[in-house]
Amino acid sequence: MDDCPRCGSALERLELGEVETIACGRCGFADVPVDHESDRPRLESWRDALERFYER
Ligand SMILES: [Zn+2]
Repeated sequence: MDDCPRCGSALERLELGEVETIACGRCGFADVPVDHESDRPRLESWRDALERFYER
């Protein structure tokens, strides 16, 4: 498992439906492999994805 590039703690593996990604539960860093259409920062895309997931 990789370490967070921001704070150096261990990244956690998360699943959002069919999407899988890694994220840091400590500083909020997330590696989001989707949302190519968005110009927003990755963290914002990740939050949007989380919100959509939990709204279901
Ligand atoms: Zn971190």
